[in-house]
Amino acid sequence: MQRFEIDTRDRLQIALKKADTTQHIQVGHNAIQGVADMFKQCFPGKRAVVIADVNTFKAAGKQVQEVLEAQLDMVLPPHVFDVEDMHAEMQHVDALTEFLRSVDAIPVAVGSGTINDLTKLSAYRNHRQYMVVVTAASVDGYTAFGASITAGGFKQTFQCPAPRGVLADLDVLSQAPVEMNAWGYADLIAKIPAGADWIIADALGIEAIDSVAWELVQGPLRDMIRDPVGVRSGDGKALCLLIEGLIMSGLAMQSLGSSRPASGAEHQFSHLWDIEHHTHHGIAPSHGFKVAIGSLSSLALYEKVLPMDLQNRNWSLGEIQSRWVSFDQTEKRIRSRYSDETVAQQIVDQVRAKYITAEVLFKRLQQLSALWPELKPRLEAQVIPFIELKTKLGLVNGPEKPEDIGIELTRLKDSFEFARYIRTRYTLLDVAHETDVMETCVSQIFSGGAYWSSKNQDSHKVLESEDVIF
Ligand SMILES: [Zn+2]
Repeated sequence: MQRFEIDTRDRLQIALKKADTTQHIQVGHNAIQGVADMFKQCFPGKRAVVIADVNTFKAAGKQVQEVLEAQLDMVLPPHVFDVEDMHAEMQHVDALTEFLRSVDAIPVAVGSGTINDLTKLSAYRNHRQYMVVVTAASVDGYTAFGASITAGGFKQTFQCPAPRGVLADLDVLSQAPVEMNAWGYADLIAKIPAGADWIIADALGIEAIDSVAWELVQGPLRDMIRDPVGVRSGDGKALCLLIEGLIMSGLAMQSLGSSRPASGAEHQFSHLWDIEHHTHHGIAPSHGFKVAIGSLSSLALYEKVLPMDLQNRNWSLGEIQSRWVSFDQTEKRIRSRYSDETVAQQIVDQVRAKYITAEVLFKRLQQLSALWPELKPRLEAQVIPFIELKTKLGLVNGPEKPEDIGIELTRLKDSFEFARYIRTRYTLLDVAHETDVMETCVSQIFSGGAYWSSKNQDSHKVLESEDVIF
């Protein structure tokens, strides 16, 4: 075992004490050899059944099956989905729920986000727990509560417990498609703007920071995103830190029962494009890559809002009343944009839950002004420059500009308004809107080409050749 594996193991052991469902986590080279031991610790005396798809069975499922058969008395034949272009859709949950009902065995999910989410919900529907063998460092949902499943045309989070055990073999992760590990890297680096948003919500008394969940995600985050080149090249240490960071984020969500520790405005952009069924070249871009563009957008907005003199603004109730759009007008605007009644209703419900009157806003803005001298340096310490994120995304072969995931600049501009309607979560998008600086900031972001100009396109290539790592 190398030093970094020991460090990861020790940090995860400490983190596990905060989790309420997950009891065992193993990350390391050749970790699959320990799958039977983990199963016995999690589910003594139970039967095992491997759940995989054709690709994940090839990547790790076959080996998992062999180790289990060699070391356990009761292992059923594997259940392998043979579906082309498989996604986490309800029809597969129904099929897997039915299958699990027919067998008396504990599912061992072998896969990435899709297989994990399908198994998580199907096991829960059979009142069973499960464990997962991770095949790519692609998402932070492995250890999170809830499964993200498309049902009725919409991606929805279904409440269900996290796995009892999680095993990640670094040799398997290094063989995963490079792009999948880049998705995970993008989802992990998103915790930087997400953390800044939580600082704002905490300061304004809207959603308090939970110190345990905060420390799990933010504590070692900077170390875990340090080496995008290593992630791209399948380096063991870089992947070990990446999967550790993703597992930690999931544990934080598990401990808090909320995705707040891992998600802010950057995820609202991604959810907006999900709800609009955005596709690029006929397929939906990955969650991680949508979040990457959301993170760039969020950091660009931080760069515009933070220099503003928000402490010396003399807010007047009359001025706020005259500009503050009523709930009815907002609802009309949303319904005129989304002709699909189900989509419109979903958004309107979120907006209603988040809506405040001009009088409440007046008080909030006074509070913000008073807090700003103290809040601003905290936010400056939390965020990283837009260009640093863009560079890192380039080094990991992720998207650097919205067009890379099929989002035109005009649409991204528009998304700055609509993203904040998608969740009740309070973020920088709300601050910019409520302080009435959104329009100015957005027009600055989209003029002059400072953020997505062709001039900056090749910056990461220069850094790469000089082997610069932040
Ligand atoms: Zn995410």
